[in-house]
Amino acid sequence: MKSASEIISQAVKDGRKSLLEPEAKIICKEYGIPVTRFELAKDEEEAAKFATAIGYPVVLKIVSQDILHKSDVGGVKVNLKDAKEVRSAYEEILSNVKKHYAKAQIVGVLVQEMAPASTEVIVGSTKDPQFGPAVMFGLGGVFVEVLKDVTFRIAPITEEDAREMVEGVKAYPLLKGYRGSPPADIEAIVEILLATSRLVVEHQEIKELDLNPIMVYEKGAKTVDARIILE
Ligand code: ADP
Ligand code: MG
Repeated sequence: MKSASEIISQAVKDGRKSLLEPEAKIICKEYGIPVTRFELAKDEEEAAKFATAIGYPVVLKIVSQDILHKSDVGGVKVNLKDAKEVRSAYEEILSNVKKHYAKAQIVGVLVQEMAPASTEVIVGSTKDPQFGPAVMFGLGGVFVEVLKDVTFRIAPITEEDAREMVEGVKAYPLLKGYRGSPPADIEAIVEILLATSRLVVEHQEIKELDLNPIMVYEKGAKTVDARIILE
């Protein structure tokens, strides 16, 4: 497995400003951020083979340096239950992407474990020209996009900072469990915030990082999508 430094310097050498999802996820793994299991397939048969190894249901996603927002172009297919569905999703993804952008350079299709639906949170990082990298936390969907219910701290953050970030969002009661829905694993989120802080402090080439969404369970969490943009 390539190291974060190797992946970043390769991207710089290639003149790429954004890392591919598998590259971003390998970097996450190096820092102890849990991610969905994945394999990069180059054709339908390989996709079906990887799906069997990973276990159904699976998710297929386009991997291309030209496509940053994969679902906007029909580049994500979730809940595929057997090899037949995997093969047709593979074809569909390629044709959707080509329809949208004929010249898109395609690296392959990522086959990944389907994370069961749960409470979704977002961890991010942006760089302040004066203070350097900052870490962001929020709950997924409308909480971040519409309500802008997020907390920020300048990196590096301490464990106490991370805990305050989680407890500081207005939607925090939802994480503690409500109306019979189970509480989310706050410790797992704290660990991800700390790991993200270490990552962006040690790799100042990172301009933006976006773990969106992260599924949080009663025990543990899993990053479903990871995006890293370089300076
Ligand atoms: P993008 O943000 O580039 O459109 P994502 O990888 O975030 O693409 O996929 C879009 C949506 O599909 C996610 O927000 C999530 O709801 C769902 N999804 C993607 N990958 C998985 C996965 N491995 N398990 C479960 N759901 C997934
Ligand atoms: Mg996403």
